Amino acid sequence: MRIACSGLIALFALCFSTAQAQDAAPRWSLAIHGGAGVIERSSLTPEQDAASRAALQGALDAGSAVLKSGGSALDAVQAAVQVMEDDPLFNAGRGAVFTAAGRNELDAAVMNGSDLTAGSVAGLTTTRHPVAAARAVMERSPHVMLIGPGADAFAAQAGLEQVDPSYFFTERRWQGLVKALTEAGQPVPPRPVGAAIPGAQAALPAPPLNEKKFGTVGAVALDAQGRLAAGTSTGGTTAKRWGRVGDVPVIGAGTYASNADGCAVSATGDGEYFIRATVARDICARIGSATAPDAAAQAEIDEARTLGGLGGVIVMTTTGAPVFAMSTSGMYRAAAASDTPPRVAIYADEP
Ligand code: ASP
Repeated sequence: MRIACSGLIALFALCFSTAQAQDAAPRWSLAIHGGAGVIERSSLTPEQDAASRAALQGALDAGSAVLKSGGSALDAVQAAVQVMEDDPLFNAGRGAVFTAAGRNELDAAVMNGSDLTAGSVAGLTTTRHPVAAARAVMERSPHVMLIGPGADAFAAQAGLEQVDPSYFFTERRWQGLVKALTEAGQPVPPRPVGAAIPGAQAALPAPPLNEKKFGTVGAVALDAQGRLAAGTSTGGTTAKRWGRVGDVPVIGAGTYASNADGCAVSATGDGEYFIRATVARDICARIGSATAPDAAAQAEIDEARTLGGLGGVIVMTTTGAPVFAMSTSGMYRAAAASDTPPRVAIYADEP
């Protein structure tokens, strides 16, 4: 009888521990953004609204697939960001904004929260996926940040796909440059060599009305092993000059991750102000010293706004609860987790 009882107890203990193990299945979580700004319901047609949501869903699915199959937070971030770099809807990779000289100069960064390794690039003109170049700097060079032709040469040496600069051209962004320069009374440069002929990109979605937004893209993730990572990619700001670089590739400004603090951040907004407020690092420092993640994110967005800069951030925490904060009327964003259905949002008042 005593033997039978102890057998039952063992069986119960086994069932209980199996149930516990299932409850405690490693959690993964992913959040992405496609830029913040003046994005109101009245400025998007139903078709534009739907196209943006579908684009975000595609990027979210790519990153989620990595995490679902046990991949790393860094792989997931890269997968999601690359989908948006390829999508002309966003100001990153193909579809990036133009400099005043009529070029696309691309910036990106990645950071691993588990060991504080980071890589970034600025002013790329021929590397198809700037986020992959940032990762190569992190993993395959002794450096953290490479710029300009040297950075493209490094990416090419690392085997990353190189393209003609005209690959990044979109009519929509070109017209945005023409408008910005004309309004500022500055000369409009000649159409880039190899650019699609006017009208050839009619199939691409038209820009939203009264568009004033930052179209930078980014992703933050927690993987099933508890590692946090962040990545961001951008074309910067329309009509930028003199080799201007924004917050995106500045580690601690637009991109940061630290498992010790329990935080991964990707930002979008007025880069100059996000650099001065060291937004991404400060959010992590606040969380590391026990400020609630949403309060930490809001405090930094408010600080950048006080300096004069608008924008938004996405934050991933070690519990896998994403935080979105913005000082704009909208931010293209989406999130998914192992135990939470995917959600996509655009306007500030959406959950
Ligand atoms: N933060 C980017 C920059 O200043 C712009 C953006 O978010 O779209 O380069």
